[in-house]
Amino acid sequence: MNNQQIAVIGAGTAGLALATLLGRQGHTVTVIERAKALTTVGAGILLQPSGVGVLSEIGCLDHMLQYGHRVDALYGWTQSGRTIMQVKYAHLNEERDIFGLGIHRTALCHVLGTALAEVPHKRWFGCEVKSIAQNGNTTQVTFHEDGKEHCEEFDAVIVANGSASQLRPQSLVRYDRQYPWGAMWLIRPLTDQVASLNKPHLQQRYAGSAVMLGILPTGCIPHETESPLVSMFWSVPVASMPAWQSDNFDLGGWKSQVENLWPEVSPLISGIKSARELLPATYRDVIMSRWGVGRIGVIGDAAHAMSPQLGQGANMALLDASALARAVDVSSDWDGVWERFHSERSGSIRFYQGMSRLLTPLFQSSIPGAGFVRDLALPVSHLIPWLRRQMAETVSGRKQKWL
Ligand SMILES: Cc1cc2nc3c(=O)[nH]c(=O)nc-3n(C[C@H](O)[C@H](O)[C@H](O)COP(=O)(O)OP(=O)(O)OC[C@H]3O[C@@H](n4cnc5c(N)ncnc54)[C@H](O)[C@@H]3O)c2cc1C
Repeated sequence: MNNQQIAVIGAGTAGLALATLLGRQGHTVTVIERAKALTTVGAGILLQPSGVGVLSEIGCLDHMLQYGHRVDALYGWTQSGRTIMQVKYAHLNEERDIFGLGIHRTALCHVLGTALAEVPHKRWFGCEVKSIAQNGNTTQVTFHEDGKEHCEEFDAVIVANGSASQLRPQSLVRYDRQYPWGAMWLIRPLTDQVASLNKPHLQQRYAGSAVMLGILPTGCIPHETESPLVSMFWSVPVASMPAWQSDNFDLGGWKSQVENLWPEVSPLISGIKSARELLPATYRDVIMSRWGVGRIGVIGDAAHAMSPQLGQGANMALLDASALARAVDVSSDWDGVWERFHSERSGSIRFYQGMSRLLTPLFQSSIPGAGFVRDLALPVSHLIPWLRRQMAETVSGRKQKWL
């Protein structure tokens, strides 16, 4: 399609990547973001090899490598040290170097924002979009800036405003709920005291399905810290999160539990004075029948939020952006865009949504026996080369269908 006026709502992973790719095609892109600036929020994100491929396509992989921490494998152990999960990207048996990246959300947005800055576009930050309405061949976006309401028209609008989006067309939403479990997270410098955790791996420890501790090398934050960071995730039911904000929280009891589960993590948590230093993260499970109708499309977490068990959130946001930009490039109208986007992305999105829903209770639930089933079944997959490869394909974000 020739020059279209396109609004991209949300300057997260999906929105920044898409705006860059559409801007390069010559479209007039306006990025509308609620936050006033891309500030330091969030913790570690695991970017899988397929997402790393999109960074390469955008031309910002070398920049991202300045901040990210290479990840080659995912490991999970029981408290007694038995290996339950062992997925190496090397199991893909490819000649080229395949790796993931542990990266801080701020670094990811900074690098994508720098790529976008090189492309002509409009940037309306500090503007919260309240509604989108389609009117013939135009789409009206109503937003608030400093308490004032504004309304602007575009040829099309792409909703990329994250998992809690209220802007995705409700007629396409089939399912939208919060997962009952989430995580408390902490980010700390990767000092010599925790040198044993400094590995190119996502590492997890489990005790049944109700206890899980994760460690992800997270690289550094642009203009803030040159020294590498590490993110720690502690699985909790969402219902228990308010207790972490209370003065009566048993911090000592929690620290002992962590130290028993994984003694090497002790120096990371020893300096914690209040449970409020850990921040809560919740996840949604969102299913849509399609991701575009008329002149409105939806990508990233807004389109298919899922639990982070397979580490696909930012990855799928990048894959969506790449696929949608391609669809816009080769289609003659917006119906054609959604058709192409759907046919390229639906297999992968359906697979990862199904897999996340299937696996999450094995890692985060109080279902009796769920951890036992996981501890019995997953190690078998390391012994069978075909299964080993399927696991690596799955984690790397490249699966397009179940078989
Ligand atoms: C503040 C924050 C912290 C996060 N921290 C982590 C983390 O530590 N680890 C992790 O794995 N994942 C984290 N995530 C999620 C992760 O970034 C996403 O799963 C992934 O990058 C997919 O990106 P996305 O672009 O679809 O959505 P998001 O990254 O959620 O981006 C959505 C953007 O839309 C903006 N927005 C929302 N509503 C409106 C509106 N009405 N009008 C205008 N703008 C709007 C938001 O401010 C945000 O910038 C975080 C997300 C956010 C927003």
